[in-house]
Parts: sequence; C-alpha cells; structure tokens
Amino acid sequence: MSPKDTQYKIYLTEKDIPEAWYNVRADMKTDHRPILNPATNQPVTVADLSPVFCEELCKQELNSADRYIEIPDAVREMYRMYRPSPLVRAYPLERALKTPAKIYYKFEGGNTSGSHKLNSAIAQAYYAKAQGLKGVVTETGAGQWGSALSMACAYFGLDLKVFMVKVSAQQKPYRKAVMETFGASVTSSPSDETQIGRKILAEYPETGGSLGCAISEAVEYAVTHEGYRYVLGSVLNQVLLHQSIIGLEAKAAMELVGEYPDVVIGCAGGGSNLGGLMSAFMKDKLEGKTAPKFIAVEPASCPSLTRGRFAYDFCDTGKITPLAKMYTLGATFIPSANHAGGLRFHGMAPILSQLYHDGYIDEARAETQRAVFDAAVYFARVEGTLPAPESSHAIKVAIDEAVKCRESGEAKTILFGLTGTGYFDLAAYMQYNDGSMTDTVPTDAELAKGLAELPKV
Ligand SMILES: *Cc1c(COP(=O)(O)O)cnc(C)c1O
Repeated sequence: MSPKDTQYKIYLTEKDIPEAWYNVRADMKTDHRPILNPATNQPVTVADLSPVFCEELCKQELNSADRYIEIPDAVREMYRMYRPSPLVRAYPLERALKTPAKIYYKFEGGNTSGSHKLNSAIAQAYYAKAQGLKGVVTETGAGQWGSALSMACAYFGLDLKVFMVKVSAQQKPYRKAVMETFGASVTSSPSDETQIGRKILAEYPETGGSLGCAISEAVEYAVTHEGYRYVLGSVLNQVLLHQSIIGLEAKAAMELVGEYPDVVIGCAGGGSNLGGLMSAFMKDKLEGKTAPKFIAVEPASCPSLTRGRFAYDFCDTGKITPLAKMYTLGATFIPSANHAGGLRFHGMAPILSQLYHDGYIDEARAETQRAVFDAAVYFARVEGTLPAPESSHAIKVAIDEAVKCRESGEAKTILFGLTGTGYFDLAAYMQYNDGSMTDTVPTDAELAKGLAELPKV
C-alpha cells in the first residue's frame, strides 16, 4: 500500500463516546478475593470505606454485579473536551521495522495532563461534587495523577489538596506548576500539616519522602477535615472501571476499519490503563469468543507480576489501607532510586492479578530501563510522538512482537496502549541521551525482604 492510501488516525466522533463503563468483574469466572479490613480480616463494606472515599465510589468499588455502569452526563461532557482519543495505525513504525504486522496504538496523552489518568479523575471529582463535598485529597509521585485531578477539580469547582513526594516536587517543578495553575494546593510530603508527617520529619528531617508516606498524609488529612475525601488514581476496581472507556473506544474504532487485534499490549504499574485497554476484548475472552492474546509489561526494577507473590497485602508502604489479594513484592518494597520510568507500585490491581492468575492475561514481561528507552527513542524518531517512559514499556514489547512477525512472516494485528506524553520526563531522556542511565534489577535476596513482611492472612 502506498503511503497516500493510508489512514493514520481512526477517529470516532463525540457521539460515539460510550454511554456506560464496562465492569469486567460481572463477567469474570472467579471474582477477585474480597478486600479486607486489616483490623478484622473481614471483607470491607461501604460503611468501612465511606469515611475515606466518596459514597458512590465505594459502591462502585464493591460492585461485581452490574456489567455496565452509566457514565453521568456531566462526566461525558468533560470527556468530550479530549475524547474520543485517537487510535493510530503506526505505518511509519511498520515500515521502519519491515514487518508484515499491523500495529495500532490508542493514544491517551493528548490532554493537558498528558495521560489516561484524566479518565478516572473526572469521574472521581464528579461523584465528590455530587455528594456535596468541599474537596478531595490525594498524593502524587511523578505528578500525572495530581495534574489530571487538578483539571477535573477545577472543572467541577472542588478544592484539591495534593501531597507530593518531596523529591518529586523538587525534580518536577513543572508538574507542580500545572497543578497550581489549575487551582490545586500542593504540599511537599512529608509536611508539618499532619501528625504522621510531623512524626516522620522529627525522625528523619532530611528525608525526600516516599509515596507511602504521602498516602498516609493524604488519608489522615481526608479523615480529619470535614467535607473532604481521599481519592486514588490506579489499582482500585473503580479506576479500572472508569478506564474501560479506553478499550470500549479502541474496539469500536478498530471495528470501523474492519480490524480486530491478535495481541493487546499494555504497560502495568498499578494496572489501570491495561485494565482499561483490554476491557472490551477481555469480555470476548470471558465469553469464550475469539479474543486477543494479552501481554502486561512491567519494569524489571519493579516486577510484581513476574517475580511477586499472589497474596494479601497492604496497598501502601505505611500499611494503613485495606488488604487486597494481588501480585505484590511486599508493601515495603521500594524500587531503586535510579529507576526513572514510572510504574513504581509494589502491587498490581486485584482485577488484573486475578485475571493473570487464572490465565486470562496470557503473559507478563519485565523489561529493563535502557531497553525501554531504546524503544522510546526509536518510536519518537519514526512516529513523531514523544512517549512517556511508562508507555514505552508497551512500545518495547510491541516492537519485539512485530519483529517476531517479520521473522515468521505472520501478519498479526497488534494493539498497544500509548498512555501518555513524555514532555514532563525530559530529565529521564537527558539521562538516557548522555549515557548516565543505568539498569537495576533487584536480586532474589532483595525481593525476599519485602515478601517476608507480607501480612499473615
Ligand atoms: C500512571 C501512568 C501509568 C501507569 O499506571 P497504570 O495504573 O498501570 O496504568 C502508565 N502510563 C502513564 C503515562 C501514567 O501516567
């Protein structure tokens, strides 16, 4: 096919934005094991969760019955500002790789916050506002979630308090500026605004903070401030539910051009984008129809699916959250400081974990950082889009799969998730470019430490 016959971007129209999210739990053969209250080891209830989370989001968290959950009109309205997101046929990449494979990617980096996280931020801010709350509180590490939430809170007229890991706030001042521009109040964590923050500062005055500490501060702030609730940008069932919009749109767009993927590839940190991208195709698999092979890609420096244990664990380093049954490296596991590529969470969404455990997600691969950046730079140069380091894990495996097709002559159709833009990750690209980027893969002995501390359930 000559380049002039090709269609690079397959756009749905605003009218095609789905009217309901898809709740994969309704179709799973084995639901994930219940989330437990760590004080009692009993399954959590809406009453347990509602002092911390918004009421409607608690219900969504525990809903395994409703296959489709209607997207409120106000949420669809904000989705229209940047959705449907484009599905792109990567012709230049196919040509560069000389592969017979067809490569598609769903690009979620086109909004100002720069990633798919906005899809859930909008829903969570909407339900908080609908409940009559004054504001929401969260933590952010790299800053994508905080940026997305600040946009959503500005739109719905909600206060936002963000505890940002101190080193990230120093390393990523532009992320902080985005959040503040959208009206959020950003506090470096640990801070003197919470009891836990003051305690940590007293013990470790020089600390740069950690995500676990920021979560603890955000939860404490939410439960001690009237009219505030805590919100989280990945891992939870509700977040995967909201992200199903990615897969629903991707499937509809592929249908427009008469395509269906043989392979679906997504990067996996907490599991929300992959859970979202695969949703509509996973439904086919669970119904026993023809379905793609699913591949999850994680960093070799934080390998929860490939080297973790399927066990109950806390979702935070501070060990204050409920217990979830998931693939985990242990709540105290912290990836090496020279890991620049995101996807740093020690566990994996319970939905993804169960689907992987049951073989519905076919494969997980762990990739080292420099190989991921090799793929990112190759992709940027041929496709003209600077990818987020997280997304580049999926790019790496998409390229590997396309090269295999070149060798076998098979013309597979590959779909991967391009979850975000790399504009805010230029410090990592600078390290890669000047050769100072390193790879660190934890040893078995290092992993054993985190796993030894798993709670006994
Ligand atoms: C947060 C983030 C991820 C990883 O989170 P998941 O919940 O696993 O999707 C991936 N890509 C980008 C661009 C992100 O911001």
